[in-house]
Amino acid sequence: MAVVLPVYETFSYSVPAHLSDQARPGMRVLVPFGRRTVTGYLIGPDRQTDSREIKQILDVLDDSPLFPETMIPFFQWIASYYMHPPGLVVNTALPAGLNMTDIAVLTIDENGIQALASSSTGPVEKSILAALSEGPASIKQLQKKIGRPVPWALIHRMRQRKWLLLDRRIEGGRIRPKTIRMVALEKSENFSRRLSRQRRAICDILKAEGDLSVPALKKRIPTAATLVRGMQKAGQVAVYEKTISRDPFGDPIEPDTTPRLTGEQTRAVRQMAPLLGRGFKTVLLAGVTGSGKTEVYLRLTRAAISKKMQVLVLVPEIGLISQTERRFRARFGERVAVLHSGLSRGERYDQWLRIVKEEAAIAIGARSCIFAPFTDVGLIIVDEEHDSSYKQETGLRYNARDLAVVRGRHHKALVILGSATPSVQSWHNVTIGKYDLATLSKRINRQPLPEIRTVDLSLSRDERGIQRYITPQLQKEIRNTLDEGNQALIFLNRRGFSAFPICAHCGQALRCKNCDISLTLHKKANAFRCHYCGFTKAATSACPSCGSEDIKLLGMGTEKVQEAMVQLFPDARVARMDRDTMNRKGAIVRLLKDLKHRRIDILVGTQMVAKGHDFPGITLVGVVCADLTLNFPDFRSGERTFQLLAQVAGRAGRGEHPGKVVLQTFNPDHFTIGAAKNQDFKKFFDQEISFRKALAYPPFSRMVAVRISGKDPQKTAEMAGKIGTNGRRMLANAGPGGSRVKLMGPIEAPLARIANRHRWQLLISSPDVAGLHRLVHELMQGPNSVATGRDIRVSVDVDPFFL
Ligand code: ADP
Ligand code: ZN
Ligand code: ZN
Repeated sequence: MAVVLPVYETFSYSVPAHLSDQARPGMRVLVPFGRRTVTGYLIGPDRQTDSREIKQILDVLDDSPLFPETMIPFFQWIASYYMHPPGLVVNTALPAGLNMTDIAVLTIDENGIQALASSSTGPVEKSILAALSEGPASIKQLQKKIGRPVPWALIHRMRQRKWLLLDRRIEGGRIRPKTIRMVALEKSENFSRRLSRQRRAICDILKAEGDLSVPALKKRIPTAATLVRGMQKAGQVAVYEKTISRDPFGDPIEPDTTPRLTGEQTRAVRQMAPLLGRGFKTVLLAGVTGSGKTEVYLRLTRAAISKKMQVLVLVPEIGLISQTERRFRARFGERVAVLHSGLSRGERYDQWLRIVKEEAAIAIGARSCIFAPFTDVGLIIVDEEHDSSYKQETGLRYNARDLAVVRGRHHKALVILGSATPSVQSWHNVTIGKYDLATLSKRINRQPLPEIRTVDLSLSRDERGIQRYITPQLQKEIRNTLDEGNQALIFLNRRGFSAFPICAHCGQALRCKNCDISLTLHKKANAFRCHYCGFTKAATSACPSCGSEDIKLLGMGTEKVQEAMVQLFPDARVARMDRDTMNRKGAIVRLLKDLKHRRIDILVGTQMVAKGHDFPGITLVGVVCADLTLNFPDFRSGERTFQLLAQVAGRAGRGEHPGKVVLQTFNPDHFTIGAAKNQDFKKFFDQEISFRKALAYPPFSRMVAVRISGKDPQKTAEMAGKIGTNGRRMLANAGPGGSRVKLMGPIEAPLARIANRHRWQLLISSPDVAGLHRLVHELMQGPNSVATGRDIRVSVDVDPFFL
């Protein structure tokens, strides 16, 4: 039993006779816990523990399991690896609306009203009953109504007295179902009869393509609706209703046609399909942008479901509103369940249940889809495996790409990681023989990859204002694009850091001498600091490579770029896409729709725009300053720059017109820029991996970040210091095994204050995973771990993604 509380152990409870028929693993139960009554998930049958008396379960809260028993070892693995309380792991896995407090809907039993009169009814009970006499309510609603917390123990007692009924009622909703009218040729019709030219045209289309919907016909022949009505009366066509789904743009998804595979695609499918059902295996599918990876996924999925396997498909957050989901639903229809945050709570609940009941065989969704409650998965696909949205950055900080491999191992499944720009981690696994490799090296239709031109930003250092960052070369290309009636994407990555020090003369960034990581300015100390090891340099330092004292803080955001675009191209319709503008649900969909229908000429955006969209109107991509990404104080900055540049360039020229990319940079000769320019991943990898090896960064070591945050700067700093000292002491006592573990910091986090909380971090790394995890375990949960107060939060980030 895993309680829904921040505790790391699991507990044994016995099941009383009257509940023994109901209680099954995967259900929620009510248990006594210390002096409280709490909820938990049944993840046993437990091994018999002999000690002490075992308490009894009070109540079972579900009629059927919420997840299959086969997932329990997966949850346990996660709890242990990410050092997260098991009950909260399960809570994270379940879709909102299924975790505890939301689900129970209480109604008053027939006897309930009478019970009100009883003298033994307490005041809280009375107010609960009074509130419920107005109608059923969830626990949350109830708490709102009576204005105080409603403890589970009380609910349980009221149920035992038969005053209350617990009733699972969530408003379900299917995913935007809709019926459309389909038109079919009337079989009995003799078409030798003379038809009007337009009716003849309709017949020809239907003969060639089979049944089509009225909207589809209307696209070809605008008057199709009227024509069809007439033809129906004349007995020439039949019209029937069909239920279909709609995509996030609101357009109907119609069954798609299956294209003939290219030679490369055929080879990839032939390589991977035979691996289905042959045990655990991971294959990296490296295919350039537009090479048709999705079609390969679709074929393998078809092969898997024909073998009665269940399939998980993970796509990046934003990929959901691109085509992948649409294509899967078009191909497999009702066999697909969709899990993502764009769905309403009821929709998500429904989709979850469809999977539990095995009504669906394929689940597609963003990172949380890795928890889809299938009993026995045979194929797991992770599209754009390098994507940062697979990493959850709050609560349970898991990486869904990594969990895909773990779950695949548990189910003895085939795991496919696909990307045009694979992560260094995954490619490394290929080179050491851990993963197989499949490649798609050419774009479908042999469209050339876009031409990429670099513009040296250091040449415009004497310019002022806009001209300095939107160079004449870039301006000219934007102008041409607009004149040709095409669209431009202007990209600037400005995640997190507002500024980093760069030499205004030669463009060199100031880096740490120990870590080869960009330094960040710490205003209070008036110094540049490395946030890995704490190395410090005066804010007045000269450039180490050219000696210039003109060190500038490069600070520039998408908002500024948008302003510049409006000013430079007053005739263009300019829009911006970044986290600031896109935080409202539906905003992205609206913007992409505008882009698709060409209601936007210039789109300015952060990395959000780089992901997976396929818009034929975009022929120009402008990268305002590639160095911004390159010099992030993070050892993965080179990898991210390569990925972003290659992905962003992949957005251009997907239509008939060839694409162009203008890449502005202070470092045109940097190997990352060069490799991105030639979309040469291998060349990039070879250089990058030797740098990682030299400094023992992942994949040659693993890291854990311990993050400390609190409102009081003094206390937070002290706590960080204590944890650091504690860790060093443990290392010293660990003997020779401990010597491979490296502890860096504590040091103020690069963003030292967020939402008024002061943040510190401690980095612990080692090539020895087990040793690393042992130390962090001891540090966080051991008998000598530092007790953290209420106002200071300490969290562990295993395999941190952003440092
Ligand atoms: P990737 O995911 O590798 O970037 P996509 O799967 O999006 O590439 O494919 C690019 C385009 O090529 C899509 O419009 C897709 O429909 C089309 N396509 C894929 N495979 C084929 C094929 N065998 N024949 C014709 N078109 C194809
Ligand atoms: Zn310099
Ligand atoms: Zn350093």
